[in-house]
Amino acid sequence: MTAQRLDGWTHVYSGKVRDLYVPADGSERFLLVVASDRISAFDHVLAPPISGKGAVLTALSRWWFEQIELPNHLAENDPDAPAVPPEVADRAMLTRRLEMYPIECVVRGALTGSGFAEYRRTGAVCGIELPAGLSDGDLLDEPIYTPAYKAPLGEHDENITFARSAELVGEEAAAALRDASIAIFTRARELAAERGVILADTKFEFGRDPVTGELVLADEVLTSDSSRYWDASAYAAGGPGRLASFDKQIVRDWLAANWDRTGEPPALPQPIVDRTLVRYTELYARITGA
Ligand code: ATP
Ligand code: MG
Repeated sequence: MTAQRLDGWTHVYSGKVRDLYVPADGSERFLLVVASDRISAFDHVLAPPISGKGAVLTALSRWWFEQIELPNHLAENDPDAPAVPPEVADRAMLTRRLEMYPIECVVRGALTGSGFAEYRRTGAVCGIELPAGLSDGDLLDEPIYTPAYKAPLGEHDENITFARSAELVGEEAAAALRDASIAIFTRARELAAERGVILADTKFEFGRDPVTGELVLADEVLTSDSSRYWDASAYAAGGPGRLASFDKQIVRDWLAANWDRTGEPPALPQPIVDRTLVRYTELYARITGA
């Protein structure tokens, strides 16, 4: 997994999906976040890449940033901003470099995935008690905030209670992260619903601007990688196709059926790769109308 060389930029970090660069002139204010075509599931980067995915996710994040009123990390309008290298223009976001909070701000409007697994074991998710008798995929009356601790590279993220998040980042910041997450999710869910799509859950990441101290929405937002989206008409029809998704669930389901979760995951077959890109692209078209 070698990050591409970019003229005028120094590669500083690669996450599972994004490659990060800082200006080679040493300026500390900016960070170039380049979305690769890599896909990850169950904390593994999978082979092969999904060609075109990075561009679709970047375009979708940009669209959502425009709809959301909270300050975001895009810095392209900053008069001092360096130019984005043309070879990655469709996959790159020029951002202000933030001090990231080590919290994945998960909001769930439905119960599924790891949240459903935890509920089945304990009746609660991240310390939030839920009514008995809920099934996989059931919508919740009110969205719930279920943060996770963003573990250092190589370790698994860990679901935590709100109280634990306050120990990690302070009471005030923890409350601000929660309130911003719920507010953005609530608005986004309405927007998605108008387009026949259920936003089931999502994850936000925030940082603190080291100059102004303000809370800033960062990373990718409301993409098919960071969210679960379901087709509203399939959901209403019920049955086994109820959770027809526009997200990574396609990949997770294939892996769950074809891998015992030990050692390295197998390569994804081409039909799964193709289907993932089709569904990601379809979501982009539905949500943005483009
Ligand atoms: P990990 O960081 O554990 O590898 P990941 O696989 O989710 O997690 P990516 O999403 O591939 O990582 O990489 C994006 C990284 O960039 C994340 O660590 C994210 O927190 C960080 N990031 C996103 N936006 C900013 C920003 N504006 N300033 C600083 N860091 C940012
Ligand atoms: Mg990430």
